[in-house]
Amino acid sequence: MITTTSIAPDRASVRASQADDLGYDLALLQHDSVHADSADIWTLGSWIAGQTDQLQLAVTVADIPRRLPSVLARSVISLDLLSGGRMNLILGENNLSVDAVGSVIEIVRGMMDLSERKALSTGGYFPLRGVKRGPIPAHDVPIWINGAGPEILQLAGQKADSWLAPYQNMRLEDLRIANQFIDQAATDAGRDPREIRRSIVVSGMISDASDTFLQGTTRQWVDDLLPFVLQGGVGTVLLDTSDVDTIDAFAREVVPALQEAIERERPVDSSATRIRRADVRAKRYAGIEYDAVPASLRDSATEPGDVTYPAVRSTYIRAGSPGIVLQARTTAEVVDALAFARRHPDLPLSVRSAGHGISGRSTNQGGIVIDLSQMNEIQVIDEASRVVRLGPGARWMDVAAALQPYGWGLSSGDYGGVGVGGLATAGGIGWLSRKHGLTIDHLKAVDMVLADGSTVRASAEENQDLFWAVRGAGANFGIVVSFEFEAYEVGNIGFGQFVIDAGDTAGFLEKWGATIEASPRDLTSFLIMGPPRRNQPMAAQVLTVVASDDPDTIVDRLQPVANVGPLYNQQVMIMPYAALMANTQGSYHDPGGEPAARSGLIEYITPEFARAAEHLIKSGTVYFFQIRSVGGAVSDVPPDATAYANRSANFSVTAFGPDPERVNQAWDELAVHFNGLYLSFETDQRPERLEDAFPGETLHRLQELKAKWDPENVFRDNFNLTPNVTSG
Ligand SMILES: Cc1cc2nc3c(=O)[nH]c(=O)nc-3n(C[C@H](O)[C@H](O)[C@H](O)COP(=O)(O)OP(=O)(O)OC[C@H]3O[C@@H](n4cnc5c(N)ncnc54)[C@H](O)[C@@H]3O)c2cc1C
Repeated sequence: MITTTSIAPDRASVRASQADDLGYDLALLQHDSVHADSADIWTLGSWIAGQTDQLQLAVTVADIPRRLPSVLARSVISLDLLSGGRMNLILGENNLSVDAVGSVIEIVRGMMDLSERKALSTGGYFPLRGVKRGPIPAHDVPIWINGAGPEILQLAGQKADSWLAPYQNMRLEDLRIANQFIDQAATDAGRDPREIRRSIVVSGMISDASDTFLQGTTRQWVDDLLPFVLQGGVGTVLLDTSDVDTIDAFAREVVPALQEAIERERPVDSSATRIRRADVRAKRYAGIEYDAVPASLRDSATEPGDVTYPAVRSTYIRAGSPGIVLQARTTAEVVDALAFARRHPDLPLSVRSAGHGISGRSTNQGGIVIDLSQMNEIQVIDEASRVVRLGPGARWMDVAAALQPYGWGLSSGDYGGVGVGGLATAGGIGWLSRKHGLTIDHLKAVDMVLADGSTVRASAEENQDLFWAVRGAGANFGIVVSFEFEAYEVGNIGFGQFVIDAGDTAGFLEKWGATIEASPRDLTSFLIMGPPRRNQPMAAQVLTVVASDDPDTIVDRLQPVANVGPLYNQQVMIMPYAALMANTQGSYHDPGGEPAARSGLIEYITPEFARAAEHLIKSGTVYFFQIRSVGGAVSDVPPDATAYANRSANFSVTAFGPDPERVNQAWDELAVHFNGLYLSFETDQRPERLEDAFPGETLHRLQELKAKWDPENVFRDNFNLTPNVTSG
């Protein structure tokens, strides 16, 4: 419901803000070609979108072909993205033929369709050749058609998401006739007529007096409007008035009374499904009960035919094609999503927080994804004890930024886009690891949804066995919906970036390893190398953090690292920890395929390991080779205190390569040097890897707990532990 804005731009903006405050759903912005001083409709729309929070905007476009349809499409998509999915586009005949309007619809939908990788080319009224599609809107921008002639009604039935009555206070009889045209055209086009929302514009005055149509009391307005909803199928009523009292009373009195009357006459059917367009339904996968998606998730669920699907189908390293992505915003929605997933026991189930899983397959082919990215709250619970609550979908760069004003931090990983959910259930090897240990070492409690849909809390006091398992193997036990951490003081840090000659690769690695081991714990260092490049010397990038803001301490710690070999480049900065973590923009993921990643933990960089690593790097089998220092505070925690048991290692070694077979073969040759692995950097799915990740008694205990907490093995997308039912 709305206020319209054929009024001066400044007043339109004030009116829209009032409408937003009053809880109106939608404002209609009409192009004004009469008044020379009227604002450009897209500039006005952008302004209003920026001033309002919830209000949807329906923009009526009347200046085609002066505004090319492809330009129009980019404007509407961009504004939808910026406004968080609040745009609607209204097209009418105006100066255009019906065929031309149809052509505009084709272009706007084509520009939104990023499932198609080819640039957009169309014929017809507005021929286009090779126009780049996108960006991906925040939602499938509904296209409305406004008009009353038989042809435009037919087009609405064939292609529109919504139809808007062309004049105010349309008679119910005329609405019924229009509906018949629309319904028939929809059916002929193979659509469900319910796909097309019907909208009317009304005008009148709310008062105690008169009793003509929409001139009277709230009660009369309800009596007048109710038949349009019940018999005319109207889903949206737009109010066109400049009377401020009527705008106010309509929102406060008429809307609730009308909704109550509708519910009384036509109780809400909670099993009713969201009606998707036929072309969207056509892309559904067999085996998924799309019409059984729980009501709480219906609006946010994404299917293969949806325009937003390309934004959610894949993860950072893995291209996927899930059958449905369920975006949960609350614990109750996670429970609903899990219940839906459990109706499909044979389909893959992936749990996704921020989509940076390497071992964790948080996308899949043809299955179900439970996406927690909206559950991204970061909350300080108790300032005195520094306890913070993090949602699984929060990204570590946002956590660092939120804790900075308190002078606190939590060591996570090196990449700001990684999510709390995946990292804090596995380990967390980060920039402050040697001083502060793993991320999980500061976890105090979790709230989880278990396989049977129940919710539990696990901590040192409650469900201790589950809490032990969550810290290292959490993905196997349920969906963590909230994490409680105790943060610690983190001021500015020193960050050194060195490019060091590594021509004698083995010698360099050995010397770097010895230097790091000899360094105090406030130093943590990561080393990155790639294969040799033609006509370029072998070099290593060495990134080192000193957990201190004292320049003398920083220089003292970094100098030995800089001395490991001849320097090609160096840079040292003192910066907030949050600035170090703010290292990604975070748009959607669109990877080409799926690389192989391998992990190994090692106590010392021995000469034998250094030589084997040099061989691997120079073979070209891997394009990324990294060693991170761990040890220090990570090793202070006893191996049996958490499910992350490989505590004695001083270094974590990782490599990425394009060809899994070659990478595995090369890595297997290195295995003799390793003592376990960190599962978050591992993609190999051979069963032996479980023993590497969870050595000795740890694996046995985890399998027993798996039988207790997830006996049917619902959670299996990440280093799957099969339940040990005999001993469970
Ligand atoms: C570019 C990059 C840099 C990285 N850097 C580091 C680093 O410095 N240090 C480090 O330790 N790791 C690092 N990692 C690995 C990273 O920690 C893991 O891949 C982690 O799982 C990613 O978390 P996510 O929530 O973003 O991933 P997602 O893909 O959302 O989740 C990965 C898996 O975690 C599980 N999971 C996710 N959410 C939950 C939940 N709420 N409850 C239970 N299980 C859940 C699921 O099994 C899921 O498949 C990096 C990864 C990438 C891609």
